[in-house]
Amino acid sequence: MLKNPYIIRVYNDLQTKFNEQIEYLQAVKEFLSAIEPLVEQDKGLEKEAILERMVTPERIIKFRVPWQDDQGQVHINWGYRIQHSSLLGPYKGGLRFDTPVNESVMKFLAFEQTFKNALTGLPMGGGKGSADFSTRGKSDQEIMRFCQSYMTELAKHINENLDVPAGDIGVGKREIGYMYGQYKRLKGVELGSLTGKPVLANGSLGREEATGYGLIYFLQAMLNEENEEVSQKRFIISGLGNVGLNAIKKVIHLGGLVLAVSNSQGSLYDPQGINIKCLEDILVNHNKDLSIYTQERPHASFSKDSIWSRQIEADIALPCATQNEINAEQARKLIANGVRFLAEGANMPCTSEAIEVFNQSKDFIWAPAKAANAGGVAVSGLEMSQNAMRLKWSFEEVDEKLQTIMSDIFTRCKETCLAFDLGKNYAVAADIAAYQKIVQLIQMHGLV
Ligand code: GLU
Repeated sequence: MLKNPYIIRVYNDLQTKFNEQIEYLQAVKEFLSAIEPLVEQDKGLEKEAILERMVTPERIIKFRVPWQDDQGQVHINWGYRIQHSSLLGPYKGGLRFDTPVNESVMKFLAFEQTFKNALTGLPMGGGKGSADFSTRGKSDQEIMRFCQSYMTELAKHINENLDVPAGDIGVGKREIGYMYGQYKRLKGVELGSLTGKPVLANGSLGREEATGYGLIYFLQAMLNEENEEVSQKRFIISGLGNVGLNAIKKVIHLGGLVLAVSNSQGSLYDPQGINIKCLEDILVNHNKDLSIYTQERPHASFSKDSIWSRQIEADIALPCATQNEINAEQARKLIANGVRFLAEGANMPCTSEAIEVFNQSKDFIWAPAKAANAGGVAVSGLEMSQNAMRLKWSFEEVDEKLQTIMSDIFTRCKETCLAFDLGKNYAVAADIAAYQKIVQLIQMHGLV
């Protein structure tokens, strides 16, 4: 419940204007309630409309993307780029190609990205882009034509000093490769115009692993605080994209036991621990059909149910699929099944009601996406640095820098918890830490 009159007015105005934009309102509300005590203390904020400037994107670009399928049929999709904030540097954030994307999802992602990027300590503003296009079931040629058409329009709004997109759901190095090729045809060679590029095309080593590995580095720091470690812990990890898969690999490498994994088709539970070779074979050679796993490992079970609705006893949950994947009932189930820690690999994977359940449970500790999944964009920042210097760092160099960035973000959250008497509420701490930085930046930039 929001209490501060200024905050209530800002939120109510948004609600009136953007009544349908559920995800955007959800992300803003969570943020506003976290920073409420600071707003309460600073009466000057309202006159300067600081909060309004914080929650409103600087620019929204919407364009149509015409493309032709293999049969010659022409299709039209929508492309978006939300340039939320340039206070800290070029707008920075991924592109999502997925069917359920809309302006609400884009606005919430661009908003959160701004604060996440601020926490990395690197010079990056915040943005996010998308298309309501799914690569599923499309041929390679169709995907290439789509990416070229998408970039033909997007190129008018980006460059290495203005806005630097990267990947997200549905956009991996193949799509970035095609978009980068088209960008060069249109505007010439500009190494830092996109990140998440294939390593051969001046991408950074370690970028692919960065979000998943970074998530585990943050988790390690959080566990360390409790004198606990990843080794021997039982994990449930949703999502088998870039984030989930690399988180699984890191957990296994550190001696943790991954009991259950999932993708959009269903979930897999292996009480002996997921066999990574078997899983990767399914992802590469069997069209991601997880049910095949049980043929080789009959003691495992596949279900079409959500991974979060299954009865699995575990210690740590890592939601790495998509927004709002865990609801309140599932949150209660996790706690009843022994889960004591959670770190968000996806952006806003827990509903507000699920978060309430976590916060009310005395011994439950969780890490918010803004802090815990910042590793991907952080290494994107390192890719921009390498491109600007015309250098290439080794995997080990990048990974070491990533570890430092993640542990610094954790320290920042921990110190903010201490300063504001927040206990172990790292989510509120992350919002406050990023907010403090952004408020100062808005004020020092004048009327922007
Ligand atoms: N899409 C990622 C995120 O949500 C990475 C963005 C980037 O590398 O620019 O943070």
